[in-house]
Amino acid sequence: MTERSAERTYGSLPPDEALALLGNEVRAKILHTLSEARGGRGPPPVLPFSELRERTDGSVESSRFNYHLQQLVGTFVERVDPRAEAGADDAQPVSEMAATDEEGFRLRPEGTTMVRTIRAWSVAGEATVEPFDLEQSCHHCGGSIRAQYRNAIFAIQCADCEYLYDYNLTPPGILNGPDDRLLERVAAYNRQQRFAFAQGTCPLCGGGVDAEFLEPETTGYPRGDLRSTIVRRGCSHCGNKDTLTTGEFLLGESEVIAFCRRRGLDLMDTPIWEVEFAATDRRTTVEATDPWRVTTAVELDGEALECTVDETLEVVDRERY
Ligand SMILES: [Zn+2]
Ligand SMILES: [Zn+2]
Repeated sequence: MTERSAERTYGSLPPDEALALLGNEVRAKILHTLSEARGGRGPPPVLPFSELRERTDGSVESSRFNYHLQQLVGTFVERVDPRAEAGADDAQPVSEMAATDEEGFRLRPEGTTMVRTIRAWSVAGEATVEPFDLEQSCHHCGGSIRAQYRNAIFAIQCADCEYLYDYNLTPPGILNGPDDRLLERVAAYNRQQRFAFAQGTCPLCGGGVDAEFLEPETTGYPRGDLRSTIVRRGCSHCGNKDTLTTGEFLLGESEVIAFCRRRGLDLMDTPIWEVEFAATDRRTTVEATDPWRVTTAVELDGEALECTVDETLEVVDRERY
């Protein structure tokens, strides 16, 4: 693994230099044009120089346009030259995606990802959802649970006891779809993020994540008294991080998944806020804090599967009763 200071984008530049490349209107438009040409499906299309210039901004002089295009080549854009000899140093990467007879320019994976990220974070109109009640009541107090979306955070919280069920950084792209299925999308989005963190993988970059148990009082979470502990997992490569309950960590355990499924609870298809052992610490007991040892009981139909995890989030003990 390379040192952070030696990190390169997939192309060749350090992250700060790659970002600096984007500070120009013509370059931004080139990336947008190449992304638009894709039409939302299929491999990145290859646009010949003249067509790319025409679609981007025909009023930009050819040499100036070419200068800016070349600044992007190698990092966000690649030049496809079918005449390049196979195996030559300047040959383009050969892959299924790259198979083409055309000569021209297309987005590299970094360019595609960057444009997708910007699009995920762009919506028309107001990117807020006013508070509305869920049909479910609070596991702690029986009060009403309320959802709202503001400042890129989807928050799900009890309006009575203030226990926070979810507080997730979510792109406003989540609003793109039928309104009556918004909660389903939030549940699915959060679940795949949590599953990845639970299983030790950063959902943004695929890197490994570390784990740390925290005393609830040392965090900014409201109603720390209703929590036993908070597991913080973070990715040192891209900086992504999340906090989980011990029960949420167990959502990635195959034995827990099977135990629940046999009793009619599909963890792959149920919003986490509905799953008591994952959404709250009501079934979680801190056995020890130095080193940490925490037990969560999954109880269904009068039967229980109790899992104890250690500091490294390894399940070190399982008990059925
Ligand atoms: Zn409550
Ligand atoms: Zn990461």
